[in-house]
Amino acid sequence: MQAVPEGLPEDTVPPPSAIWHPFTQHALAGPAIFVDRAEGASLYARDGRRIIDAISSWWVNPHGHGHPRIAAAIAEQAARLDQIIFAGFTHEPAERLAEKLLAITPDAFEFVFFSDSGSTAVEVAVKMAVGYWHNLGARRSRIIALEDAYHGDTFGAMSVGHRSVFSAAYGPMLFAVDHLPFPSSGAEQRTLDALEALLRDRGEEIAAFIFEPLVLGAGGMRMYPAWVLAAMAELCRRHGVLLIADEVMTGFGRTGTLFACAQAGVVPDLLCLSKGLTGGVLPMGATLATRAIYRGFYAPDRAKMFFHSSSFTGNPIACAAALASLEIWDAEPVMERIAAIAAFHERRLSALRPHPRLADVRQTGTIAAMEIRVPEGGYLSALAPRLYDFYLENGVLLRPLGNVVYVLPPYCITATDLERIYDVIERSLDLVED
Ligand SMILES: *Cc1c(COP(=O)(O)O)cnc(C)c1O
Repeated sequence: MQAVPEGLPEDTVPPPSAIWHPFTQHALAGPAIFVDRAEGASLYARDGRRIIDAISSWWVNPHGHGHPRIAAAIAEQAARLDQIIFAGFTHEPAERLAEKLLAITPDAFEFVFFSDSGSTAVEVAVKMAVGYWHNLGARRSRIIALEDAYHGDTFGAMSVGHRSVFSAAYGPMLFAVDHLPFPSSGAEQRTLDALEALLRDRGEEIAAFIFEPLVLGAGGMRMYPAWVLAAMAELCRRHGVLLIADEVMTGFGRTGTLFACAQAGVVPDLLCLSKGLTGGVLPMGATLATRAIYRGFYAPDRAKMFFHSSSFTGNPIACAAALASLEIWDAEPVMERIAAIAAFHERRLSALRPHPRLADVRQTGTIAAMEIRVPEGGYLSALAPRLYDFYLENGVLLRPLGNVVYVLPPYCITATDLERIYDVIERSLDLVED
C-alpha cells in the first residue's frame, strides 16, 4: 500500500511533534509556533517573539488573555468543586450562570442546556428542534440553513453547514438540508423569495431555520443586513418554523451589540452560545431555550425526555470562568471598548476602500473584513498561507479565509496594536500579484 504519494516527505521522517493539529495539512505546514505565555492581546512565543492576537485566538477571547478575574475564579472553583455529574446534581456556579445568561438575553428564554463547544451547542439546538416536533407528533424534521454557513464540525453541525471540500468525504453521511442562497448585497430579495417558495412547498416538513445572525464567520466573514434577518425570521414564523440562532461567534459583543439578533429585533426559539462565553478560556457551550421548547419534552413519560448529555456538561470550573467573564462586562467599560474598535475599523477601512487590490471591505461591529481581488485560477488557495506567513513574520496573527483578510481582536487591544495590524495588512497587499 502506497501511504505517501510521490513528491511528499516520507511519513517515516520523525515529525517535530506527535500532535495532529486541527485544520492542518501536515505535509505542507511548517512546525507549529510554540507559545509559552499570553497577556491581553499579546502572545509570547518560545523564540522570544511577541505576536499580536488579531483574531482573538480563533474568535474566542473577548477580554484578552490572562485576565486576573477569570484566572482567580478558576483557581478558587478548582479547589472547591472541580467536576460533578450533572444529571440529578447541580451546583452554585451553574445555577448562577444560567440565571445570568437568562438575565442578559430576551425574556422569551427560560432554560439553559450546557454542553462543551459551539458544535455541541448547535447539535443540542438541532436535536431539541427536531425532538420538539417529534414529541408533538408532527412530521417536521427538515432544517433550513444558509449557503456558506458554518455551524461546527460534528456530523449534525456539518450537515447544516455549507458543503465544501471540508465535508466532501462525509457527504453521503450528512442529512439533507435546504440551503438558501446567501443574501448578498443587492440580491437579498432572491434569498427571501427562495425561502418563501420553500415554505410554501414544504413548510409543514420543516422543523427549524438555523442561521448565523448578520455575519457568516468561517464562510468568509460574509455580512448581511439586519432587515434581511428580520424578514427571514418573519417568514419562518408565519409557517411555524422554529428559529435557531447560532451566536457562537457573533455573541458577546462581536457585532457591536451583546447579541447580533438584537439588531434585527429577532428573538429565536433556540440560541447557541460558546466561544466568548467563558472569556475564551475554557471550553463550554450553552443552548438557551424558550418555555415552549422545554414544554415539548416535559411529560410524565421518560421516552419524551431530551436524550442528550456529555460527561463534562455544566463543568463547575467552566461555569465559574463564564461568571467571571460576564462580571467583567459590568466592572469594565467593555461596550466602550467595542465602540472604539468599531470606530477604528471604520476609519482604516474607509481609507483602504479605494485600494486597487481590494474587491470589497466590510464591517460589522468589531469584525472588519477585506476581500482581496484575485484573478481566476489556482492562485487563490496559495494566497492565504502566503499572507498568513507574512503576517506572522511581522508579528501579527491573522488567518485569512481564502482571499478574505479579517480582523477580530480582543476588546482590550490597544490603538497602537490596531494601527500595527492595519499597517501590516496594507503592506501585505503589495504581495498580491496581478
Ligand atoms: C466556531 C463556530 C462553531 C463551532 O464551535 P466549536 O467550539 O469550534 O465547536 C459553530 N458555529 C459558529 C457560528 C462558529 O463560528
